[in-house]
Amino acid sequence: MSDRAQMDARGRKLPVQTCPACEHVLSAASSVYDDERPRPGDMSICVECRAILVFTNRMTLRRATVDEAREFVSIVARHQGKR
Ligand SMILES: [Zn+2]
Repeated sequence: MSDRAQMDARGRKLPVQTCPACEHVLSAASSVYDDERPRPGDMSICVECRAILVFTNRMTLRRATVDEAREFVSIVARHQGKR
């Protein structure tokens, strides 16, 4: 794992935190599609329990709402359609 995997979009180190669903320690993030770093409002998936998570303004993670989870699934589906 590179140091960059622990950075957000502004080059700040992501807080080490636990998954709000399963409490697995999450200290890094990797984008599903490219080399972009996470920003507030971006979605993430827990590597352990596959919960859909959202970065808050402070780059902590909360569980996505049902609407957000639905949107995430539709974005993923759209990306897969392009390949
Ligand atoms: Zn989890």
